Amino acid sequence: MTNEAVVIGGGIAGTATAIALHRAGWRPVIYEAAERDAGERGVFVTLAVNGVTALRALGLDPATVLARGFATPVIALHGASGRLLAEVPLGGPLPDGSVSTTIRRSDLYSALRAEVTARGIPIEYGARLTGVSGAVAEFADGRTARGDLLVGADGLHSRTREVLDPKAPAPHYLGLLNTGGFTDGPVRDAPPPGVMRMSFGRRAFFGWVTAPDGSVWWF
Ligand SMILES: Cc1cc2nc3c(=O)[nH]c(=O)nc-3n(C[C@H](O)[C@H](O)[C@H](O)COP(=O)(O)OP(=O)(O)OC[C@H]3O[C@@H](n4cnc5c(N)ncnc54)[C@H](O)[C@@H]3O)c2cc1C
Repeated sequence: MTNEAVVIGGGIAGTATAIALHRAGWRPVIYEAAERDAGERGVFVTLAVNGVTALRALGLDPATVLARGFATPVIALHGASGRLLAEVPLGGPLPDGSVSTTIRRSDLYSALRAEVTARGIPIEYGARLTGVSGAVAEFADGRTARGDLLVGADGLHSRTREVLDPKAPAPHYLGLLNTGGFTDGPVRDAPPPGVMRMSFGRRAFFGWVTAPDGSVWWF
């Protein structure tokens, strides 16, 4: 008999978990609070080499998934005054030459989302987990789902964690601000290709990287 898995949250972790469970012979269903998938939302992520290995473990070809990304093997950390604090490798290269790769979050998400579709894994949208009763997950609109396994992949403010472990420390705001986007064309003092530059202030932090086409990706 195939075991059923209830995966709460259809972001990066939820889609990746559902693919892994499906490969292991489970029948996962993803329950996502949003009314539709994340599409183009988000800015970028730098996938370290262990993330590249994880793509392989999910049966995905990193060369295809990361085709629109670019190698970012180094991170340079700066203080608020601009002083360089450290410049360290971001891991790798792996024996096959893979290095940490910066990719638009929407490209990574789309690849995982497409694999979920290809495997016929259902995603139920508009399903916001509110409670868990025994083996039954309960959603805000009255829906319920029963499974042999419940996975919380519902992000930073995980309701799953709150319900299953009410004493777990809740995340709290540290007073840091951040925003992000993509900027065309040359930007003064932009980091050289391959380097993720991070600057830390007391109230904000800033990270930026130069793409091969000269655009600057920042958050
Ligand atoms: C739309 C979006 C864009 C982002 N863009 C970036 C980015 O550009 N760069 C970056 O570094 N990080 C970004 N993040 C954060 C980043 O995804 C996380 O840091 C990291 O990828 C963790 O992934 P996750 O799957 O654990 O959580 P998330 O990516 O936060 O996904 C959690 C999912 O669970 C869903 N969910 C939440 N509560 C419930 C509930 N009660 N019931 C059911 N579903 C629920 C959310 O709608 C979300 O889809 C983004 C997050 C989101 C949601």
